Amino acid sequence: MKLKDKITIVTGASSGMGKEIARLYLAEGAVVYGIDLNKERLDVATKEFSNADFQPLVADISQVEVVENILEQIIKSAGRIDVLVNNAGIMDDMLPVGEVSDQLWNKVLAVNLNGPMYLTRKAVKQMLEQGGCNIINIASIGGLYGSRAGAAYTVSKHGLIGLTKNTAFMYALKGIRCNAICPGAVATNIGETMRSPSQFGLERAMSGMATNPKTGEAVDIASIALFLASEDSKMINGATLVADFGWTAY
Ligand code: NAD
Repeated sequence: MKLKDKITIVTGASSGMGKEIARLYLAEGAVVYGIDLNKERLDVATKEFSNADFQPLVADISQVEVVENILEQIIKSAGRIDVLVNNAGIMDDMLPVGEVSDQLWNKVLAVNLNGPMYLTRKAVKQMLEQGGCNIINIASIGGLYGSRAGAAYTVSKHGLIGLTKNTAFMYALKGIRCNAICPGAVATNIGETMRSPSQFGLERAMSGMATNPKTGEAVDIASIALFLASEDSKMINGATLVADFGWTAY
């Protein structure tokens, strides 16, 4: 078992990649604190994972006080944090900058970028005290290239990659690693977060789909998140690991 008794936190653990990461971490012997906004889906996951040490926590990661309280709760009960996976994220209706509202911009940045920062900031303090650990951010190829989504999502994921690299280098001598996974297209429920997509933005963003060799499954990303959480990847720090079947190699 690669994560025996490791204390792990996975955000967005009730669906898609987060759920598969939680499932795999549990199978590898970890304790998983699964944070998600969606109580119904989290209840379903809790039932599915009832034979393992899955601790569900309903919370909105975009709320700083909520994040601080939850992490304090986890540290109090578990005593440490070994792995933090910042996975929860939402789409942005493919809105180009000329169409984006302040409300949508702020919401996407709050969930996709501020949330991971709040979790990382609090976790790093604990990690420095305990001497090391591992942070994995689920970014996107939209964090490396210009038009896989709208302006807000693209900016949020570019920002998350910046946070990944800065955290990796800042704490490299303190035993804290921080890496990002950049998935291409993966079959999950994230499309549900698109309310009324911009037709113009959708057409522009989707124009590159023709060169996408394949759409992945959430479990494909989970196995990369296991590799990054384990000692097998101990030399990898500050990396942006692209997982897209070669889409961006074109
Ligand atoms: P998903 O919608 O299936 O899962 C995301 C989960 O995050 C959901 O359970 C949702 O309830 C939760 N969540 C959303 N906002 C939250 C909040 N404020 N607080 C707590 N939980 C919240 O989507 P997914 O595709 O598995 O997405 C996981 C990550 O992968 C996201 O960061 C997404 O941007 C990224 N990503 C997805 C794709 C793709 O094609 N699906 C590609 C690249 C990157």
